[in-house]
Amino acid sequence: MKLPLSDFRPVPKLVTTVTPIAGPSLPFIDAHNHLGQFGGGWDKRPPQAFFDHLQTTGCLHYVDLDGGWGEEVLDDRLRRFKALAPDRYRVFGGVNWALWAEEGAAFPDRAAGRLRAQAARGAEGLKIWKPFGLSVRDDTGALAAVDDPRLAPIWDTAADLGLPVLIHVADPVAFFDPITPENERWDELGNHPEWSFPPPDYPPFDTIISGFANLVRHHPQTTFVGAHVACYAENLAWVSALIDECPNLYIDFSARIAELGRAPRAARALMLRHAGRILFGTDAGPDPATYAIYARFLETADEYFSYSPDPVPGQGRWRIYGLHLPPDVLAKIYHDNAARLFGLPRRAGAKDNTQPPRRTP
Ligand SMILES: [Zn+2]
Repeated sequence: MKLPLSDFRPVPKLVTTVTPIAGPSLPFIDAHNHLGQFGGGWDKRPPQAFFDHLQTTGCLHYVDLDGGWGEEVLDDRLRRFKALAPDRYRVFGGVNWALWAEEGAAFPDRAAGRLRAQAARGAEGLKIWKPFGLSVRDDTGALAAVDDPRLAPIWDTAADLGLPVLIHVADPVAFFDPITPENERWDELGNHPEWSFPPPDYPPFDTIISGFANLVRHHPQTTFVGAHVACYAENLAWVSALIDECPNLYIDFSARIAELGRAPRAARALMLRHAGRILFGTDAGPDPATYAIYARFLETADEYFSYSPDPVPGQGRWRIYGLHLPPDVLAKIYHDNAARLFGLPRRAGAKDNTQPPRRTP
């Protein structure tokens, strides 16, 4: 009898070390997360319950990317969450791309003006969501490139205001391939067909990611945080070269330990080489089970374990290996890099083991 592959859930018989680890060994800053749909729906619960819960996880400061592009959501988060615990929470604003069609050539300057207004209300960063490069269109209906020079006022204004730009473009490379049995995200695309971006309806992955690299290169005064391992976790040599080239680039590795952990030697080399430029974040709400898995990945030498709390991990049926990072690197990644970027206090008793990135003129 031949069983359908979708029923295959192999339980490894490998006998390995399983380090008991309940969460990060250091107080940490979660630099990529949400409160709404992608953050466990905490926006619908009493804010005090959120901060009480956060306290139990060891998270010192939570970056909420859900501020939106107007005033309503932003003001709600500022009033209910930021006001309650200003040292433990910040929220980012956004760009309303839909206004390009009506504002025409005036759009970039007006978008920059709206960013100034959001910053004046209390937004502490700019979040760019993945439709940029995939489906955002200009006033003529043409697809806007990620490195479109007309948009410079937005990036220059972020630099002017001292706001980091946390940017997610494209998606896993396999989402841009047809859904065939060779597609390594077959499982995930089967569950989420809306995440499939095959040609000719969407630009190729390479076009989007090259645009991202150019964007970071062309705006050296703007600090970018390349979400999800600079949006290209499948190619750590490419990511490492871009970090080397661009002192204004940080990365986070939220939602990508499945990628890093299946290439543990390259991932460890990346973390060691760029220890001052990597931010911790999970993109999964303040979830203790997820924090524990990330800690196991970063801190232990455990082998071949699941990257997800789910019985069938969502991104693909493979397992990962721990990086066993040294304490000084863990301190930077868990806390010190984000603290420097956001102007938060250093850890009590910590020596300043980070260097601000050098700026190119
Ligand atoms: Zn996210």
